[in-house]
Amino acid sequence: MTRGVSCAPAGVRSCDRYSAEVASSLFLIPVSDLTADPGSRRAIVVEAPIEWGFELAAVGPQLHAELLLENAAGVLVVRGPAKTTVDFTCHRCLTEWTEPLRVDVVEALGFEDDEDGYALDGDTADLEPVLRDALLLGVSLRPSCRDDCRGLCVACGADLNTDSCPGHDEVSASPFAELRDLLEP
Ligand SMILES: [Zn+2]
Ligand SMILES: [Zn+2]
Repeated sequence: MTRGVSCAPAGVRSCDRYSAEVASSLFLIPVSDLTADPGSRRAIVVEAPIEWGFELAAVGPQLHAELLLENAAGVLVVRGPAKTTVDFTCHRCLTEWTEPLRVDVVEALGFEDDEDGYALDGDTADLEPVLRDALLLGVSLRPSCRDDCRGLCVACGADLNTDSCPGHDEVSASPFAELRDLLEP
């Protein structure tokens, strides 16, 4: 087994001997065997701690990807499911929840430098940008706990989905409520 590839035999999930300090190397896959042999393919498993995402959508903490690497006519095709979880925070009411995230990755890395896309670095495939881009593509920058979330009362901070807020209804229904929200610290 090579560094960065699944560190355990099939069926064994433990990767305890890798610490967070070497996390970046878990994405660096040596592929000289594939580049030397057109048409060849190899399955790998990438297990890595990740801290990706946005202020209101934290992607991680653990990534699991089962990928097929294939030398296809001068590019390395990377294909397969990548799975993790996302900790969302509703941008209106600040409720937090966690959802599984699964993306079916289909990408190609050029053997030569490619300004427009991903490329191998010599005989090494760095799958971190490939997996990060694929996972973040569908993650919302402004998550909502539900379509009709009413958010927080701008006058008293109560959660308008659950709390009653006597006397503040008019304030929060105002079209300027959101604006006032932005102006007030
Ligand atoms: Zn909400
Ligand atoms: Zn209120």
